[in-house]
Amino acid sequence: MRLPVVDPEDFSARMENAASLLAALLAENKVLPLSLGGLGIGLPASVRYPLHRKSANHAFGRQSGWPRVSVNINADLGALAHANRRTVPGARKYLYIDVSSTITAGFAIDGRTYSNIDHVVGDIGHTVVEEGGWLCECGERGCLNTLASTRAIMSQLRDLGVAADSEAAIFEDSFMENPTVSRVLQRAGLASGEVIARIALFLGRRQS
Ligand SMILES: [Zn+2]
Repeated sequence: MRLPVVDPEDFSARMENAASLLAALLAENKVLPLSLGGLGIGLPASVRYPLHRKSANHAFGRQSGWPRVSVNINADLGALAHANRRTVPGARKYLYIDVSSTITAGFAIDGRTYSNIDHVVGDIGHTVVEEGGWLCECGERGCLNTLASTRAIMSQLRDLGVAADSEAAIFEDSFMENPTVSRVLQRAGLASGEVIARIALFLGRRQS
C-alpha cells in the first residue's frame, strides 16, 4: 500500500496514515472492524502528548464501524504489560523506560499504572542532565532528551559525520564498534542511567 509522504513533524497526518494502514491490514485479512473487542494505541509521551492524543482519537475515531479507541502512553502500556504478565515473580512495582524520539518512564504499581491527568507523569526526558546544554523543545537547556533520545543520537552522529540509515541501525553490533558511535552512545547511556537510578531510588529497593 502506498501512503502519502508526510512531514515527520505533522503528527495528525502521521496518525491519518496509521489509520489507513490499519484499515488496509484488516481488509487484507478479512477481519471485520466490529469483530474487534477494542483498539488500543500507544504513543510516545512528550510535552505535546495531549495534542497528539487528540489527533490519534480523531484519525481512528472517524473510521466508521470501528470499535472504541483507547489511546495511552507507550511506557505506561509497557509497565502494565510486564505487571500483568508478572515478569518478575513477587514484584509489585514495575518501572518501564521507553527510549525513542523522547524518553519516558511508565510505572505500574499493584497491576495499575500511575499517571496524572495529562498523562505526562513519567516524562523523564525533560530532566536536566547538563547545565547550559543543548536547547530542548520544552524551552529548557540540557534535558536528557537532547542527549539520549534516538532523535538526539541521530542528530549528534550526523554532526560528527556518521551516517545511520535508521534509528534501529544505531544499536547493531557492527555500528557500535565505530568509536564515534560508541562515544555518543556511552554519553547517552551514562546520562540515562543517572536519571533512572534516581527514580529507582524513589520507588524503593526490593527487600530480599
Ligand atoms: Zn526538555
